[in-house]
Amino acid sequence: MESSVSRRSALVLTGAAVGGVAAGRPREHADLVLHSGTVWTGNGTARAVAVKGMRIVAVGSDEHVLEWAGDRTRRVDLRGAFVGPGFRDQHTHLVQTALTGAGAETYRPVWKPYDEGEAFESRRRNGKRHLEIHARGETPVDNCTRSPVTEKMKNDLLVMQEEVARQGISTVVEAGLRDLGALDALFQLADEGRLKVRFLVRVGWGCLEEAARMGLRTGVGNEWVKVLGVKLYSDGWLGPRTAALRRPYTDDPYGFPREGVLFLEQERADRDVARARELGFNVTTHAIGDRGLKVTLNAYERAGVSPRDRWAVEHVQVAEDDLLERMIRRGVIASIQLSFATTDQRFAGDALGEKRLRYAYRWRDMLRARMPMVGGSDFGNEVLDPLWGLQRVVTRTEFDGTPPGGWMPDQRLDVPAALRLITSKAAFASYEERQRGTVSPGRYADLVVLKENPLTMPPERIAAATRLMTVTNGKITSETPVRYPPTA
Ligand SMILES: [Zn+2]
Repeated sequence: MESSVSRRSALVLTGAAVGGVAAGRPREHADLVLHSGTVWTGNGTARAVAVKGMRIVAVGSDEHVLEWAGDRTRRVDLRGAFVGPGFRDQHTHLVQTALTGAGAETYRPVWKPYDEGEAFESRRRNGKRHLEIHARGETPVDNCTRSPVTEKMKNDLLVMQEEVARQGISTVVEAGLRDLGALDALFQLADEGRLKVRFLVRVGWGCLEEAARMGLRTGVGNEWVKVLGVKLYSDGWLGPRTAALRRPYTDDPYGFPREGVLFLEQERADRDVARARELGFNVTTHAIGDRGLKVTLNAYERAGVSPRDRWAVEHVQVAEDDLLERMIRRGVIASIQLSFATTDQRFAGDALGEKRLRYAYRWRDMLRARMPMVGGSDFGNEVLDPLWGLQRVVTRTEFDGTPPGGWMPDQRLDVPAALRLITSKAAFASYEERQRGTVSPGRYADLVVLKENPLTMPPERIAAATRLMTVTNGKITSETPVRYPPTA
């Protein structure tokens, strides 16, 4: 197998990767060598990768990379398996979920056929909750506590990270932490050498002042736990018709205000954003409707946002050209959730009407317009599994086959573009693109090994692919084969 493989190996490497390979015979040995596979570096392909300590030391042909193997090197024959940059998830509520004491199964994806009655009730409940929060003059991220760290809290976090690592994920972003005690616990676990997943934390707005008093701001942390910024919350959700729109909803299934719920009035948005900047926090804001997005962008612009800041907006589900252009001009990153590519088809058309739907969930248009973008799951409201998200964003067809041909099929993403949203582009959104997000020498070794190659396999089978190994910061964090085929 080895010889036939190297005969037909045609290396397509980036400049950076070639530089690392060309260094000649290494004087040191690697700790780990993965060989005889297909390594997707993020830009091209190679056959093998070597890891020493926390870093990648070589990427290239089997012959070159195996020169790094010594007596104490762990060699893994990939037998043709796929290696890519470790998955990153730019929007989760994993830590917040772990604080509820959730069991391991909570983090595994389960597919259920769509039940309109159940979904209707759940949307009504969420909408009522939004109206109550709004009536109190608050946003959903205004509350903050700092619970004492307990062994139970730490254990619950470890149960969660085990499942996250098994799904091929190296880095997760917590989108709006409301208990700073969990951050204390994560820092303790990192000090104790017990973390397997990297946690980048955005504190919820309510925790901003206390976090600043603790000496935290963007970039504070270590290789495992880091403060990324703060999350603000401008409007509701599209399903319950509480996302704030510039023009009224087309339908009215719940009898809520027809233009949605705007939590963040302009004056407060301006003040909050300016304060976050003053305290040194990167800003992201939940904005689903175009009115929520407009208020958010007004506030960002008044605070002088520039592409250097890498601020973001979460969801960006309804956005006409004027708003997208403003984001592109200021380098504001659109943080989208891959699974929404199919789950929101159930209500988005009714809520927005056919004409306005053309300005919704149009991710391919956004990529073509060179909008900075990043992908996530919104775990807590959606499944975590990045392969489920990948299949959904590539096919725009739900696992039950609806709609045939895909929902707004011209907005389907190709696999490399979708993978970049959860690897290199996610690294960029976290100021880590020179350290992580691609498989290249000198970068941290964050890797995922899949039995099947998502770049060549039938797209409608991606969600059922098998994870064989996860490596984060050079450490093998999972080597249990894991697959979650979406069957009812
Ligand atoms: Zn969320």
